Amino acid sequence: MSGPLLPRLTCRKCGKSNPAVYFAPVSVDGIGTCICFVCPEARGWLDRAGDLKEGVCL
Ligand SMILES: [Zn+2]
Repeated sequence: MSGPLLPRLTCRKCGKSNPAVYFAPVSVDGIGTCICFVCPEARGWLDRAGDLKEGVCL
């Protein structure tokens, strides 16, 4: 018995697990990382629409 395999994502900046909103998910060898919404927002990397600004590389 095994349920569906859910991707497990951890924020590369703050270590938060499975954030509801995230950017730039990367999965390597079954280990997923991403950037949670809070981190780029706190750094001013988002525009007013909540999208990443051009030229921001996560
Ligand atoms: Zn984060």
